[in-house]
Amino acid sequence: MSELFVPATGVRPLPALRRHIVIADGMLLLHGEGLLHPRLPVEGGSVTASHYLGDLGGDPCGVHFLSRQLDVPGCGWHGLRGLLGQVSELEFSLAGRAVQVINWDLDHRYCGRCGGPTEFYGRERARCCSRCQFVVYPRISPCVIMLVTRGEECLLARHTRHRHGLFTALAGFIEAGESAEEALAREVHEEVGVRVGAAHYVGSQPWPFPGQLMLGYLADWAAGEVSPEEEEISEAAWFRYDRLPEIPPPQTLSGQLIRTFAAQCASRQT
Ligand SMILES: [Zn+2]
Repeated sequence: MSELFVPATGVRPLPALRRHIVIADGMLLLHGEGLLHPRLPVEGGSVTASHYLGDLGGDPCGVHFLSRQLDVPGCGWHGLRGLLGQVSELEFSLAGRAVQVINWDLDHRYCGRCGGPTEFYGRERARCCSRCQFVVYPRISPCVIMLVTRGEECLLARHTRHRHGLFTALAGFIEAGESAEEALAREVHEEVGVRVGAAHYVGSQPWPFPGQLMLGYLADWAAGEVSPEEEEISEAAWFRYDRLPEIPPPQTLSGQLIRTFAAQCASRQT
């Protein structure tokens, strides 16, 4: 799929949708390998919430929430994580956007301040309390993900919470009141005990598990020996750019940081 996606600015009233994403219980309904249905594949009465996401190749694209997973001939239910690398990057991005919009809608039907019912704003993706006017937007949690580098080596870690044993870059949530650079330095020190110097921004990626925005950096090692924090990190070590272990796929920002570093080192050799 090479179509351009233009996110919606105004979100109500719902336009006539021509591409449909269907979600129930956090799972996505796919036909064959496809996420986008050319028409709503279920009875309209089974839909409990619908949102306009934006225009894909000029076609209004939306997501529908069902209160339960229905059997739909020729279709199957899939988890979002399982779609990574299985559908196009654009479809994965749309699926992540759809899941986050539905979760935000379901999680904020009532005001967190006064308990009153909330209603949609017309022009923005927001819910507003009908009693106290408190406004809730979809919540995005910024995180830093950083590859610490030392000459031709990079620091990779295995996390205790991940079943697959991939070595990956370090990552963590940005605390309230912290800059991305401060969070990066703190997380690296907490997780593996080393200090970093300059950090170089590489790029960002939305990561819808459940609603992170990953900010990716290459960070220069400054001081300290690797000493993994045992509860989070099962193993951490330096790896030369041309002798890397199994690393995350290129669809992930971690995979991109490691490949960027390896390419930089390789280009210096020639
Ligand atoms: Zn309220």
